[in-house]
Amino acid sequence: MNVPAFFAKLDKLLVEVDSRTLHNYMMWRVVLQSVSTLGKRWRELAHSYNAVITGQEREEPRWEQCLSSLTGTLGIAISSMYVKNYFKSDAKEQAMEMVGYIKREFNNILDEVDWMDDETRQEAKAKANSISTYIGYPDELLNDTMIEELYSGLELKRGQYFENILHLRKWSTDYSFKQLRKPNLKVDWRKHARAATVNAFYNSLDNSIEFPAGILQGAFFDKYKPNYLNFGAIGFVIGHEITHGFDDRGRQFDKDGNNRNWWNSETDLRFKERAQCIIDQYSNYTVPENGLKVNGINTQGENIADNGGLKEAFRAYQEWIKRNGEEQLLPGVKLNQKQLFWVSAANVWCGKYRPEVLKMRVLVGSHSPAQFRITGPLSNLKEFSETFNCPLGAPLNPPKKCSVW
Ligand SMILES: [Zn+2]
Repeated sequence: MNVPAFFAKLDKLLVEVDSRTLHNYMMWRVVLQSVSTLGKRWRELAHSYNAVITGQEREEPRWEQCLSSLTGTLGIAISSMYVKNYFKSDAKEQAMEMVGYIKREFNNILDEVDWMDDETRQEAKAKANSISTYIGYPDELLNDTMIEELYSGLELKRGQYFENILHLRKWSTDYSFKQLRKPNLKVDWRKHARAATVNAFYNSLDNSIEFPAGILQGAFFDKYKPNYLNFGAIGFVIGHEITHGFDDRGRQFDKDGNNRNWWNSETDLRFKERAQCIIDQYSNYTVPENGLKVNGINTQGENIADNGGLKEAFRAYQEWIKRNGEEQLLPGVKLNQKQLFWVSAANVWCGKYRPEVLKMRVLVGSHSPAQFRITGPLSNLKEFSETFNCPLGAPLNPPKKCSVW
């Protein structure tokens, strides 16, 4: 339980609040959740609310709405179809090899950092070495009988979208409640089966990293691309997820996912000093589009992960070169391999936000806006400035540098 006080207060509130208010609130939640599954008149109401929050001018096309509804509610079924039709399974092997390179670099960094005492260092190494990795998808997704078994009891009918969604919600709530009396299996395939997802995860409770099939493609990864591009993109993401195990939150859990303090008190202080450097650095960034300041405290975990992750990926690529030799350059692009690594890293966060969404992300998001996810780590990494010969004091080579990992 993350916030025990919440339940004590909720308990009190449920007794104190007028029961009519409670009933109205509960009904409102049901209505609100149902609006998107109703006819056009209702969806337009929902859209006019959304337009204020997100700046979105019109409803998404029908196919996009259907697809996101399916990924949310029938995620495992849709992932099964996705991997059967679209995922090239040899990507798994190559991604696994990259994870190996990057884990080794994180381990080397643990050996090198001068601010850790040896006991804490050993705990950290034990934790790093026991991170389990999930790549692509679990083989169970290819087994139709297992997928059917998972969804047994769920009835869906053609032409009944609203009812189908209600059935799905009930089915999924029943499913979750049934798990309550069952032992918590860390290796349960169903926990790592949402393969049709362009995202990656670190889970502190089972000390695992996960890279679903959906992210092992496009700008992030392609086995026919030179590896300087792959290490800069998916390699950066892999390093990011590993480092989450050692950011301000991840470090509160041990190698078995237990919330146990394994930090010597002096090393603990030194970690906090280093994290503070990152907090101050990012708090000083102003978003040019709206003049808002980045919230360095709320984003520290992601920033620590970005900084460590990019460094690990760059070092891992240098190691890869030592063993496999220098790769060819891109035709027509006058950049060398190292330079292309950094360009590839920046490329994955290239994007565009509507002003409303950007504002919301800066105010409540746990990630820094995309531009600082790149300029932040680059200004801390001397390897970047060396690659491009940036003079000391240049915008991305400030004399003061922060580093946790
Ligand atoms: Zn993250």
